[in-house]
Amino acid sequence: MKIVVVGSSNIDMVAQVKHLPTPGETVGDACFMQLLGGKGANQAVAAARLGASVTFITSLGNDMYADVLKKQFEKEGIVTDYVVDDVHHPTGTALILVADSGENCIAVAPGANHSLLPDSVTRFEAVIDEADIVVMQAEIPYETVKAVALLANGKGKRVLFNPAPACPIDRELMNAIDLLVVNEVEASFISGLSYTGDNLDEMATALMASGARHVIITLGSRGVYMKNKKETVRISGYKVNAVDTTAAGDTFCGALAVAYSQRGLDREALEFANVAAAIAVTRMGAQPSIPTLEEVGRFKL
Ligand code: ATP
Repeated sequence: MKIVVVGSSNIDMVAQVKHLPTPGETVGDACFMQLLGGKGANQAVAAARLGASVTFITSLGNDMYADVLKKQFEKEGIVTDYVVDDVHHPTGTALILVADSGENCIAVAPGANHSLLPDSVTRFEAVIDEADIVVMQAEIPYETVKAVALLANGKGKRVLFNPAPACPIDRELMNAIDLLVVNEVEASFISGLSYTGDNLDEMATALMASGARHVIITLGSRGVYMKNKKETVRISGYKVNAVDTTAAGDTFCGALAVAYSQRGLDREALEFANVAAAIAVTRMGAQPSIPTLEEVGRFKL
């Protein structure tokens, strides 16, 4: 399976503090961690650990983190030949304060992620020619997602789009999407329908009417819902000891891309992604929590 992921890379700078500072206050007892993140990077790592051959197109900045991220992707076996070097901006950075109570406060500086413009990706047309599926999220410019989706769809390639953070999607882009993967909040925002708790079908129907061929709504601990023209599938979540849900959605998307490129979209493909994401929530962090193919196999047994 050849998967091309086009998306964001971030360095997450995390300070764990006893309490969140109020404006003007300094808290001096923080514990600091630097973690690798960005939805694009997380999904690329998930697809690679789950057995796909992954090429990641992302934009890295003019700082030492560009090298750190690139080396890490290579360690994961991800092809980095098409990574774009942005000499004018820093690598995407998230500044995260987490209080002992679990409350957090986050500032994201997209930096180089916002310079991944359409022609910096579409010039790699040959890479898209070789792909079974192209995977994108919404932390890069919308016009880039749209240009790549139209290009890939025009070549008969399958496109998985995970519009996170939620963004409006125009009809032309919707028509190019095979798999639209959203959580309940994104489904509600994009369909324009309030989520009542029992109108998944109404939201999925509206999203399909806008053009998406398969709509997948992830439901956190409650599992996942899928609708296409032929069927509706509902799968319960696994009962696991959830310690950190960061990257659950990204693991789900990476895993679903792998299963879909292998076998199409059926109950087993959704089940595979459901298992991979359930394992991810039992471990701390984003990329460290993403399971390997072997771990998913063992979980099923
Ligand atoms: P995030 O932004 O935290 O990465 P998300 O909002 O995009 O997540 P969710 O719907 O919360 O996505 O989770 C994605 C998938 O992860 C779910 O469909 C499910 O398969 C799995 N999952 C999430 N939370 C749990 C949980 N507590 N227990 C079991 N599985 C979970």
